[in-house]
Amino acid sequence: MKYFSTNNKELRYTFKEAVIQGLAPDEGLFFPVGTPELDQKFFQDLSGKEIVEIGFEVAKHFVGDDISESQLRKICEEVFNFPIPLVKVENGIYALELFHGPTCAFKDVGARFMSRCLSVFTKQNKKEVTILVATSGDTGSAVANGFLGVEGVNVIILYPKGKVSQIQEQQLTTMGQNITALEVEGTFDDCQTLVKRAFADEDLNKKMNLTSANSINIARLLPQSFYYFYALGQLQNNKKEVIVSVPSGNYGNLTGGLLAKQMGLPIKNFIASANRNKIVPDYLENGKYEPKPSVQTISNAMDVGAPSNFARMMEIYHENHADIIKDIKGAWYNDEETKEAMKKVFEQESYILDPHGAIGYLGLKKYLDKEKQVGIFLETAHPAKFKDTVEQAIGEGIEVPKYLQDCLKKKKNSIVIGKYFDDFKSYLLKQ
Ligand SMILES: *Cc1c(COP(=O)(O)O)cnc(C)c1O
Repeated sequence: MKYFSTNNKELRYTFKEAVIQGLAPDEGLFFPVGTPELDQKFFQDLSGKEIVEIGFEVAKHFVGDDISESQLRKICEEVFNFPIPLVKVENGIYALELFHGPTCAFKDVGARFMSRCLSVFTKQNKKEVTILVATSGDTGSAVANGFLGVEGVNVIILYPKGKVSQIQEQQLTTMGQNITALEVEGTFDDCQTLVKRAFADEDLNKKMNLTSANSINIARLLPQSFYYFYALGQLQNNKKEVIVSVPSGNYGNLTGGLLAKQMGLPIKNFIASANRNKIVPDYLENGKYEPKPSVQTISNAMDVGAPSNFARMMEIYHENHADIIKDIKGAWYNDEETKEAMKKVFEQESYILDPHGAIGYLGLKKYLDKEKQVGIFLETAHPAKFKDTVEQAIGEGIEVPKYLQDCLKKKKNSIVIGKYFDDFKSYLLKQ
């Protein structure tokens, strides 16, 4: 499989080039040329397949010869060493729990896959790489965890000061070793802008091999398609249409689902479920894409005002608004509605939603026609990552997994920087 840039469809890149570069030289996003053909048997056997097997069979089409089959199988085994259960929440509604990985968020899947691909490539090239990652909360720790202690790789995390939860901040700032956390006096969008400018900066590129670990990296995006297959496989004997609601920020998770649908997975519709940062629901409604400064919400990992995967969504639908709204419906909710959903689902179903999953749940409720459909929403984070918000909403204490408890006891270690590019650049040049 070859890749092109969403800004220039003529040039071709290998998987390896796309993964190492992160963003194309013209600042477009890498996108696969064509869709892999999965055979009928793959779909027939889906309900008996483990996620490792699904991941391997799908990934080999995208990776081609850049990683050997035995290495790729090993990568999939390492990435998926935790369960991804489909859990019934109420009649006709299921949560795909993506938060059982080491940092308790769905980003573990993409981050672990990408980090392992990248370390195969850095070993081949024998060159040190620096990974820049802007995070609205969860990406940073998932990526850093994937690379912790990996030789030849340095990770620099940028997060918006005061805008991530306490547990998230502890996760970001306590890893040590080859991981550095920069606390940026600005918003997530400022962090993302700093990273994008760094990639385009000549002086920096002369000095270091920069690469990206945001959802723009194709090696993070691709594995986010695998678990949609796995989810449908877990819906045994289902005869109804399936619709999937995805709580979204940068729309990488949703784009993973669109890729799965392109490969033939029978998902009738997706729901782009957002918080007040409703750029994509607005686009779906009126056909206008208008990025805006992000606003802060209790589902903070979705506080994105300029969603980076929008370009890939446009690519899939050839920028045709009429086609896109056939497949994707929009929904958005404010903090009050999110808390109410957490409370109601806890009281009626004894299921604890996190604020992001709650938005996914609400989006599903809006569109699901239970007569002929079953609905899945993605539960993207463990509720204990947002302990205070969740406890306040449901009116009860919740259990914190041991990994998160340990992390709270460690000493925070971060460097505060301004949101201006010159500060960031001089910091990097001193490294
Ligand atoms: C990152 C994140 C999201 C949004 O995912 P995108 O792929 O950026 O749309 C949703 N929920 C949680 C918990 C996240 O960490």
